[in-house]
Amino acid sequence: MTEHYPQAEQFMASTHEVENQPKPLENYNLYLADKALQQAVEREGASWAYSDLIAFGELAGKKESIELGFQANKYQPELRTHDRYGHRIDQVDFHPSYHQLMTTAIEHGLHASPWSDPKSGAHVARAAKYYLHTQVEASHGCPITMTFAAIPALRHQPGLFEEWAPKITARQYDPRNIPHTEKNAVTIGMAMTEKQGGSDVRRNTTRAYPLTTEGSGQAYELVGHKWFVSAPMCDAFLVLAQTRSGLSCFLVPRWRPDGSKNPIQLQQLKQKMGNAANASSETELRGALGWMVGEEGRGVRTIIEMVATTRYDCMIG
Ligand SMILES: Cc1cc2nc3c(=O)[nH]c(=O)nc-3n(C[C@H](O)[C@H](O)[C@H](O)COP(=O)(O)OP(=O)(O)OC[C@H]3O[C@@H](n4cnc5c(N)ncnc54)[C@H](O)[C@@H]3O)c2cc1C
Repeated sequence: MTEHYPQAEQFMASTHEVENQPKPLENYNLYLADKALQQAVEREGASWAYSDLIAFGELAGKKESIELGFQANKYQPELRTHDRYGHRIDQVDFHPSYHQLMTTAIEHGLHASPWSDPKSGAHVARAAKYYLHTQVEASHGCPITMTFAAIPALRHQPGLFEEWAPKITARQYDPRNIPHTEKNAVTIGMAMTEKQGGSDVRRNTTRAYPLTTEGSGQAYELVGHKWFVSAPMCDAFLVLAQTRSGLSCFLVPRWRPDGSKNPIQLQQLKQKMGNAANASSETELRGALGWMVGEEGRGVRTIIEMVATTRYDCMIG
């Protein structure tokens, strides 16, 4: 015997009613909703940042902000190694949502505020803001953190520090792929890891050859392969490479000061399970120009300042 549907269901084909579901968590103040964070900020000496944190919590909790996080992870970065005429460009294209997240983070000082405005509790206030923005989208935090963390490492080389620090700490996001000499604001990445093992960086095989004089602050050319270079669209990278005196740290710009492309060639982007909005690359250094940062043969000691600061942010994220 044929079973007959009630007429309404037959024609409207309604299959289920949505019930017992929460409303989307949006349009709320991330900071005011987080008592533990508020107490931590007060306890650790950053209550002076209260109104700024409330304003940032409001911004981060907006529906439009949260949507940026979803979009940046859905429309993932794409590598273009060459232009249509065959020139090497090593360009990574990002969705506008990613650029907006970067803009917000940098304009609010997540990449630099304790350096540009040092005071008691400055790191606490920045960490609280970073924590709020991480809830919107975590992976853009990678270039933000590395840029932030580059400052303590660069302090080991005063000449480079004076040239680069104002551009690193500027509250402006400039994603253009042009020489740093033409920009007022830059981002910084790091390249340590090689295929043979990320933890054991002392086994790095990348070599640095002096152009003229050897030692701190001097120009070298680097030849080697880096297995995990995140945020490869940064304007410069702190890179570990071997010299005659051992593993040393170098600041390697994306473009040479004469305006030619520095041969930092992106081979491919990693297929990652998470951290999807952020690009991570396998990179070949084919005689890339760089300046030694800090003492020769003490590269781990120099870059550890950057790594330690980065790990601290990763723990927040
Ligand atoms: C999302 C993401 C982004 C990254 N971005 C960058 C970047 O921008 N720049 C960069 O240079 N690197 C980057 N890395 C690489 C990262 O630094 C390495 O993954 C990390 O250092 C670990 O190295 P590995 O993956 O080769 O693991 P390995 O060093 O091979 O370690 C494998 C396992 O062995 C364990 N192990 C290693 N040594 C010891 C030991 N002595 N004693 C006990 N256990 C040990 C480890 O804990 C781990 O479980 C990134 C990685 C990820 C996942």
